[in-house]
Amino acid sequence: MGLRSHRVTLSPGPARTGRAAPIPGCASPCSHRIPWTRPLSLSVAAAAVLGLGHCGGDGRKQLSLRDVAELMRSRECERVVVMAGAGISTPSGIPDFRSPGSGLYSNLQQYNIPYPEAIFELAYFFINPKPFFTLAKELYPGNYRPNYTHYFLRLLHDKGLLLRLYTQNIDGLERVAGIPPDKLVEAHGTFATASCTVCRRNFPGEDFRGDVMEDRVPRCPVCTGLIKPDIVFFGEELPQRFLLHVVDFPMADLLFVIGTSLEVEPFASLAGAVRSSVPRVLINRDLVGPFAWQQRHKDVAQLGDVVQGVQALVELLGWSQELQELIHKEKAKLDTRFK
Ligand SMILES: [Zn+2]
Repeated sequence: MGLRSHRVTLSPGPARTGRAAPIPGCASPCSHRIPWTRPLSLSVAAAAVLGLGHCGGDGRKQLSLRDVAELMRSRECERVVVMAGAGISTPSGIPDFRSPGSGLYSNLQQYNIPYPEAIFELAYFFINPKPFFTLAKELYPGNYRPNYTHYFLRLLHDKGLLLRLYTQNIDGLERVAGIPPDKLVEAHGTFATASCTVCRRNFPGEDFRGDVMEDRVPRCPVCTGLIKPDIVFFGEELPQRFLLHVVDFPMADLLFVIGTSLEVEPFASLAGAVRSSVPRVLINRDLVGPFAWQQRHKDVAQLGDVVQGVQALVELLGWSQELQELIHKEKAKLDTRFK
């Protein structure tokens, strides 16, 4: 699946009538009721086994951001999965891929390409790799700095609360913020590594920094084939690491969805892959995806400016000072590294 893939239709979705969902492939759910038995009701023990009522209280009470902070402080929730999108990087100055007008595609006109998406198409890349490497030069580590949200995620990791961060971003700012690669699933790829398009050898992205910065198309040192950073192009498979979702999402006891419109599959569907008892927190400009049309009673939506939303959470967590210190320390480090 490439970047474009399928779009989720943001239709209003099924109405919430309170009736049981139909059993797939069965036209008549009633026939599944065994005669002479009482309707199934879960015992407390069974509910505990299934994880119902775990992490986030038991009732139908609507959760608030304050409740979520309390669940984290008490470590009732400590396997946090985060899904992040372009909205976490726009405060770093990185253009949004999809917002009309301000989006990356509209900024690509200077590259003289036939149509904007061509920059991520293999067929075009083999004919003219220059526009892609112009973008690569822009996004190689050093030009942009992580912002408050990236460092919040770093602190989440430092505190041992981050199970995994799934990002749609290719700017690498999660790595620059100091989140270790094994905590990351870079769903649309990364500039941190690169592969030869001919012999398939892998290289660290840094090996080609000099070429990219001096506007030379990088070539394989072994076979002279064209080198392509490991960014997922249209029609390409997602990275193997994306398969981690199969274990991560059922394990998660808290989900954050930050700065993403949840429009690109298969990334978008992941929000529904956590257990139904797990609180899901959306920090985003708008109400999107399942938060809009398939709400769960433990969903929390913090709408508006993303950084302000994260700041509100950080204050409720009592992490404000610690986070400021981390940002200060890391800024000094990056000043030395990229001076
Ligand atoms: Zn090669």
